[in-house]
Amino acid sequence: MSDQHDPASPRVTVKRGANRAVYDPAEARSILEAGNIAHVGVATDDGPIVLPMAYGVRTGPGGGEVLIHGSVANAMLRAGRDLDVCVTVTIVDGLVVARTPFHNSMNYRSVVVRGTATAVTEPADKMAALQVINDHIAPIWDTARPPSEIDLKQTLVLALPLDEASAKVRAGDPIDEDADLDGPHWAGVVPLTTTWGTPYAAADLRGAPPIPAAVTALAGTDAHITLGVRPQV
Ligand SMILES: Cc1cc2nc3c(=O)[nH]c(=O)nc-3n(C[C@H](O)[C@H](O)[C@H](O)COP(=O)(O)OP(=O)(O)OC[C@H]3O[C@@H](n4cnc5c(N)ncnc54)[C@H](O)[C@@H]3O)c2cc1C
Repeated sequence: MSDQHDPASPRVTVKRGANRAVYDPAEARSILEAGNIAHVGVATDDGPIVLPMAYGVRTGPGGGEVLIHGSVANAMLRAGRDLDVCVTVTIVDGLVVARTPFHNSMNYRSVVVRGTATAVTEPADKMAALQVINDHIAPIWDTARPPSEIDLKQTLVLALPLDEASAKVRAGDPIDEDADLDGPHWAGVVPLTTTWGTPYAAADLRGAPPIPAAVTALAGTDAHITLGVRPQV
């Protein structure tokens, strides 16, 4: 798969597997919107580190930005502020089983965003950014208790422009060698789908607050949901 758009810079030009490169910002954005977890990479004084994080995406000049947040004590976020970082989001769509392990693969959609992350500090903008991150996971911002001043002070939000990004997409069958096609070995694809399960109430839930519609929507059901059974741990 490839598209008619140009890469934003040499360092986000896909060289290996270039036929799978996607530079269409709309497609990169749709992958970011479909993903759940970002892996954030930063070079720190004691070496490179990559951590998984929640994230959000918002529109804006130059294609918008990806937003990440964490505690002000988060060493990686503090290190990444005003520095070059790399944010990667990956969605695995299937296991590609070839006739030989050498050609096994995965079907996937991934986005790599590179650039300088800056702190979002203006209070209203910071609040809006936090809502974007929160609502990317579950849009319950409007139905939950708003963050307090202390919550806000304890949270660091970083924004990374989306104007230097690449996407790579693999879809379809295994690509085996001609000589193996008449052989005795199976080949095919095992699709991978991710779904949310039935929600269950917190053990300390008091009263009978309504389940936010956004939560029941995640489970693909309506507000009259039968709650799941809390697993024994
Ligand atoms: C789920 C998954 C599993 C993978 N497993 C393997 C594996 O086991 N071994 C392996 O070699 N490769 C694997 N890949 C592919 C891997 O991500 C790289 O694309 C590939 O290894 C080429 O690396 P490179 O440094 O030669 O890339 P180059 O083409 O030199 O990278 C140049 C630029 O291309 C962009 N780019 C590269 N890869 C990606 C990507 N995946 N998504 C978006 N932009 C990208 C970046 O902007 C990067 O800076 C996997 C990818 C996914 C999504």
